[in-house]
Amino acid sequence: MQNLLAPLHPPMTPLHSTMLIGGEWVESSGGERDEIINPANGEIIGSVPRGTVEDVDRAVAAAKRALPGWLETTPAERSYLLHEVANRVDQNAEVLGRIESLNAGKPLIQAMVQVGYFTEMLRFMAGAARNLEGLSAGEYTRGYTSYIRREPLGICAGIVPWNYPLPMASWKLSPALAAGNVQILKPSELTPLSILKVAEIIDGILPPGVLQIVTGDAVVGSRLVDHPDVDFVSVTGSVATGRKVAAAGGAALKRVHLELGGNHPVLIFDDADLSQAGEIFKNASFFNNGQDCEAAARFIVAPNKYDEFVALMVDVVKSFQVGDPSRTLDVDLGSVISKREQTRVLGLLERAEANGATVLAGGDTLDPRGAFITPAVVTNLKQTDEIVREEIFGPAITIQRFNDDEQAYSWANATRNRLAATVFTENHGRAMDATRRLDFGKVWVNDSLVGASEFPHGGFSDTGGAQDGSKYGFEAYTKVKAVTHRGGRKTSFWTEELPASFAAIREQLGQSANNA
Ligand code: NAD
Repeated sequence: MQNLLAPLHPPMTPLHSTMLIGGEWVESSGGERDEIINPANGEIIGSVPRGTVEDVDRAVAAAKRALPGWLETTPAERSYLLHEVANRVDQNAEVLGRIESLNAGKPLIQAMVQVGYFTEMLRFMAGAARNLEGLSAGEYTRGYTSYIRREPLGICAGIVPWNYPLPMASWKLSPALAAGNVQILKPSELTPLSILKVAEIIDGILPPGVLQIVTGDAVVGSRLVDHPDVDFVSVTGSVATGRKVAAAGGAALKRVHLELGGNHPVLIFDDADLSQAGEIFKNASFFNNGQDCEAAARFIVAPNKYDEFVALMVDVVKSFQVGDPSRTLDVDLGSVISKREQTRVLGLLERAEANGATVLAGGDTLDPRGAFITPAVVTNLKQTDEIVREEIFGPAITIQRFNDDEQAYSWANATRNRLAATVFTENHGRAMDATRRLDFGKVWVNDSLVGASEFPHGGFSDTGGAQDGSKYGFEAYTKVKAVTHRGGRKTSFWTEELPASFAAIREQLGQSANNA
């Protein structure tokens, strides 16, 4: 581990990690391990156990043992512990950033920003733990007092993607633990190293079995969904995975929480102010190499702004320094996550070109050891093109020219991946109309991708419908119990009000018969 703290390009000893089950660092029951690759240069940087069904079962058994004690904690106690976790993680931001940078091919500075996202959600949920809201206790039936208890769900599973390994892990574990659940986390098989390091760094803060990490692929994920003692499964991932989890969760009548793919349209109307658009979309479209479920990827632009906007975005993509971030700090974009993802994104670009589109810039692969794609701008598109209709999830944007506002809205809404949308206009009424007519979970006006933990993150339709962050994302990790007490009254509702209402109806029916 020591050499990770050295300058950016030391030869490093691969990290040989184990997984955390029941407070113990263990190998897989199957004895197999998976190598972890730095996608920016193909080097092996570590290995982790390939978890099995038996490993999940061991973790669930440990979670069951840990749950009763954790249920006894008060919100304040959980809040203090989560703040302590956040402090410990912040103190180790550099080493965590280095691991994340090497594992995901991200520039170190961006990886360290993402360590900050991890602790930000922890701190938000640590506060939320102490602020649960609900219907006030009251006498909603005469002589009875009713109230709502919000209780933890029990054993929660969190299944995490590779694009933001630390923040996405935090979006699962923070609300789960804050609400009083225990959590089993499954990182992506491609990027497990940083969360395992977090678990090592925070060792001793949480009781054994409260937070466990099982590494592995869909075998581990599927067992977490199928296991009868897992009460809740939260997945951030692709639509295809979400469908499988929803089907399996449905069969088990289990609560599932799905955050799936997006296809973010940006409407640029004829009165848009584009003076800051270059800086905004340099980040909103290409931060994390566009591997972001809400990346601004699909621009729909008014005729009078089209040429100006295309030229602006071509300048933006040409300004990026793309390369291996483990060699220098002077890289804006590293590699995409894997050779497989590189091939998938390049395939989208190639098929778009073959179908008549123009790739104005980008799409180059640079050093073949890394999974690089220089950021691309694609024009001359048809609404039916695959690259317009599918989530790109990589460093490429499409730009279409619309004829009138109705066409702009119809193109923007022509997706089932309804996570995020943006509109640029200087007209207040048009902006208000757009926030209503864009049928997406998040809408920005005159900026994009600006967020805060207080605001829910989630979308409609194929995005899965769940919310992360915010009080809504916190409440998702609780269940509602309605409690009613008979108070001072001597007689029950059933011996008093019900017979009285039967008698009144009997009398009413008798009078109708007499009148007939
Ligand atoms: P993925 O669906 O391939 O994998 C996500 C996780 O699910 C991984 O840990 C994987 O091992 C696990 N998994 C795969 N099959 C499973 C199964 N049958 N049962 C249980 N678990 C299973 O996704 P990915 O490639 O890691 O991430 C990219 C996708 O994630 C993109 O589509 C992106 O839009 C989406 N994403 C969405 C959000 C959001 O908040 N909406 C955020 C980030 C990423």
